[in-house]
Amino acid sequence: MSDGLSARSQQSAPAPPAPGRLVPVAFVVCNVLVLYNIYTWLHVVPMINRESTRSRGMVEACVFNILVGLMIICYARCLLTPPGGIPDREEDPDWEYVGQDGRPSQMREGLIETKRDGQRRHCKWCAKYKPDRCHHCRVCRTCVLKMDHHCPWIYNCVGFKNHKFFFLLLFYGCLSCHFITWTMLETVQASINNDRIDQSSPLDSASRRFGLNAAASRHADSAGTSVMPLFWLLFGETLAAVFGLFVTTPFFGFHMYLMVKSLTTIEFCEKTAKGEHFSGYHRGLWCNMRAVLGDNFLAWPLPICPPSGSGLVFTLAEEMVSPRPLEAGRGYGSVKRSGRHGSRRGGKSTLLESPLAPEKGGRSLEGEHIFSSSEQA
Ligand SMILES: [Zn+2]
Ligand SMILES: [Zn+2]
Repeated sequence: MSDGLSARSQQSAPAPPAPGRLVPVAFVVCNVLVLYNIYTWLHVVPMINRESTRSRGMVEACVFNILVGLMIICYARCLLTPPGGIPDREEDPDWEYVGQDGRPSQMREGLIETKRDGQRRHCKWCAKYKPDRCHHCRVCRTCVLKMDHHCPWIYNCVGFKNHKFFFLLLFYGCLSCHFITWTMLETVQASINNDRIDQSSPLDSASRRFGLNAAASRHADSAGTSVMPLFWLLFGETLAAVFGLFVTTPFFGFHMYLMVKSLTTIEFCEKTAKGEHFSGYHRGLWCNMRAVLGDNFLAWPLPICPPSGSGLVFTLAEEMVSPRPLEAGRGYGSVKRSGRHGSRRGGKSTLLESPLAPEKGGRSLEGEHIFSSSEQA
């Protein structure tokens, strides 16, 4: 191997931990802690302490803790699960980039995406051949299988092995924020009303001095009427509403769309720039969901059982498989059905409309073009 490749291989070493990059993680953790405490101590506990709302308080406490618990497990799994990388030389030497020497590289069986000139895609930083849908992340300094995007909020890339956990993180984050927003609204309103009524009350003046503790101890009509509990209730309500309505819901909706269309964020950006909206890997709703949420339908809502497979080979959409051999330079290598879902028929036909059809199609799957965009990730 040349010195140049060796030097590039060294550049692909995992990025050293940077304390600054943990700031987004700390921000997320702080927000979760603040919202959890506000909801628990200023909404749920006062409700449980009050006879008339005890059963409702118990139900809301159970649902809330289950949602938050699942969200925290998903977040931990996003942080701690490597997104998946190209096998090392010891595991599978076929992925080791051997240089061109003017000769065309050997296309590995099952690969679909190629460079514009029909050559096998490779990463110049990692000195490895790239599987389909794999891209190099400059932040992580490594190639990531089925790379979706690099997410600073989880201090990790979203790739083949942790995509399910990221998707569920958005799902439970969205549910938790909405649950807080809509169930705590009544408490906030009651506190505002009580505060107006009790403005001149000597008892209330005394309770203000106790702040949060006063709210928990006074469970007559609402979570509390003193200044601090009211401030925290309004703060929590606003925070949950902003996260729920303007952050997690649109983001979850976007990733739902990507899952249904069998696209990654990188592929979506790539295709949107060209005015295209179809994935060459679209194989119908059921298969597309299994490709993200796993093979076991019952485990779809749980942060366990991610999709099986290596993340190295993907099945091309049924409609995209040409009955005749494709010419080199079209963007396809040897197309072979593989994986567990290969025998299933896809959904709506995309052959006539798809930008990946042979007339236009190779370009959408051309590695170098996608590679260049992934460099921005
Ligand atoms: Zn790489
Ligand atoms: Zn990354």
